[in-house]
Parts: sequence; structure tokens; C-alpha cells
Amino acid sequence: MTAPRLEINFDKILHNTATLTTRLMARGISVTGVTKATLGNPEIADVLLQAGVQGIGESRIENIEAMRQAGVNAEMILLRSPMMSQVDRVVAQVDISHNTELDVINQLSIAASKTGRVHGVILMVELGDLREGIMPDDLEHTVRETLRFPNIRIRGIGTNLACRSGVSPDIQNMNELSELANSIDSTFGPILDIVSGGNSGNLDWAFSGANIGRINNLRLGESLLFGVETLHREPIDGLHTDAITLVAEIIESKDKPSIPRGVIAQTAFGTRPPDEDRGTIAQSILAIGRQDIDPDGLLPPTGITVLGASSDHLTVDTGTRRLPIGSEITFQLNYSALLRAMTSPFVSKVVTTR
Ligand SMILES: *Cc1c(COP(=O)(O)O)cnc(C)c1O
Repeated sequence: MTAPRLEINFDKILHNTATLTTRLMARGISVTGVTKATLGNPEIADVLLQAGVQGIGESRIENIEAMRQAGVNAEMILLRSPMMSQVDRVVAQVDISHNTELDVINQLSIAASKTGRVHGVILMVELGDLREGIMPDDLEHTVRETLRFPNIRIRGIGTNLACRSGVSPDIQNMNELSELANSIDSTFGPILDIVSGGNSGNLDWAFSGANIGRINNLRLGESLLFGVETLHREPIDGLHTDAITLVAEIIESKDKPSIPRGVIAQTAFGTRPPDEDRGTIAQSILAIGRQDIDPDGLLPPTGITVLGASSDHLTVDTGTRRLPIGSEITFQLNYSALLRAMTSPFVSKVVTTR
């Protein structure tokens, strides 16, 4: 079979997604299925929808356009604030976009008016993680101004934690979001349908038994695909952590010294060369590299260690066994490695049922 390849098990993704949507539904929380790590793969989007997600969340308009083109029939939510230069494309294909800037919302309204549409927005609030978000004190003003745009409808508010700074969603910041929702609704009348509390980093909070307040939506990607929560990357009970694996092929297999010989300067990618002398080791080279994966995001099978990677080569220590040329190694991978593998044209994507 062709290598390198991602082996994607739809049954396991379906199981993970159905399990989480059911558990969260019992807490009054709907799930937006996030496809951005899959390059907006339409088949995976369909699996998520079949498993019960309410809509599809994507960070790039190009991926949403591709899913629409492929016939994915769902409410589409653009998770990254639209670029001003893309507002026409956004109103044409996206039902709801996340927004934090009135200038952008104004342009979205103008674009929507040209085609007689009404575009939905979720206003994102900054609650400590310091990525996107309106400062809480400015929310009321932003809502008031947004309500003036004729072709915009405020669908809700949301926040995103556990991302840039790894701030944990907890009772305190989730209550803050709920209180903001209550305050907006009491000032402007009930206008917020959606109060979106966050991403896969919110699962501990959601299942902690804490009062969920006004929060009625989470946007989940990594937990559906990898069966882990993302604060500590602990496996979630009853979910598959191996729904997606990466297979690469060995192109060289030799006994080599464990440390380099000669005067050491920089490596190709500024990483540290090996300095621990472990004598002679069985070293293999796999035909895959940084262009295709994040080497730090690969989990090799027991007995194999990742030594390093350049653009096109991944070196591994295969322990006591020298593996044959042409044989394959299967890795588990994290979000960062998946993101790169999905976007690499050199890695084929194969559906499995193993
Ligand atoms: C990527 C993203 C998500 C999904 O995050 P996961 O950790 O994969 O669940 C949710 N919301 C926003 C705004 C995102 O950018």
C-alpha cells in the first residue's frame, strides 16, 4: 500500500463523537464538530454529523467552501474571525462566524446586504487565554453596535480558552461567561441562543458536575478524533485514542553509532544533536519528514524511539531489532502532527475499518 499514509477509522470517530454528543446532551450542551485538523475533510464532516453534532466548525473559509462543494449539508460556523478581504466569500457559504471586531461585522453586513442575506455572528469574549476575544467590559457596547447592522443577526456569545495560553476552563471563567450572557439578555431582551463555552479543553469542566449555567454549546475537534481531553491529554473513558494512525516506510536500516562524529555545529533545524553515547544502535530512516509531520507529535510503537527529523527523513532507534527495508512502522499522532499530515500532499489518506 502507498506510504506514507494516514489510516482513518470512520467507525471509531463515529463512536467517539456519538458518545460525547450523548454525554453532553444529557448536560444540556450541544456539540459543534470541528474539522480544521482534517483540512475540512467532507467525509469526516459527514461522520460527525451522522454521530449527532449540531453543526460544523472550521477555521478556514477554503475548507468550508470545499465541504459545501462536496455536498456536506450542515450549519457551517467559521471559527476564526473573517478576514476583511474575504467577507463576500464568508457570507456566501457560512451561516455563523465568530467575530470580535466591529469593522469586520460592518463589512459582513454590507456584503450580506448585496445578496439579501442575514449573516449570523457569535461574539467571542476574552476570558484570560489572550487569543481572540472582546474584553468583557466592552461586550455590551459591541452588542449594542452590532444590533444596528441590518444584515447581521447576533446568534450568541462564546469564549475560547486552553489555546494560546493553556488557561483551564473552570467554574469561575464559565460562570463569568454565563453572567455576561444573562446581563446581555437582560439589557437587550433575550437575544442569545448560543452560549459556546469552548473546546475539548472544556470537557473536564462539563463532566465535573458543576452547574453549567447558560453554557449550551461546545466546539469539539481533538476529543472527537483522538478520544482525549486536552488539558492533560488524558484518554476519555470509553473512547478510542487510535482512530487515526500514521504509517511510514523504512528506506534505510543500519547499525550506527548513537552519537555523531566530527566537530558539531548546527543541525538543519536548529535542534540539538544526540549527546548520549549508547554505543551502537539499530537505526532506521523512514521516508517522511517535517514537511509532513511534527516529529515531536509522533508516538511510536513500544521498542522504537524517534531520534530526529529533517525535511524528508525521520530517524528512529529500533532497539534490539534491525527492521527490514520496505517494512512499515505505525505511529499514533497528536493534533499537531495530524494537522501537518492532513495538509501534506505527500501523505495519502486511507479509510480503514481495522
Ligand atoms: C480549533 C478550535 C476549536 C476546537 O478545538 P479542539 O481542541 O480541537 O476541540 C474550538 N474553537 C475554536 C475557536 C477553535 O479555533
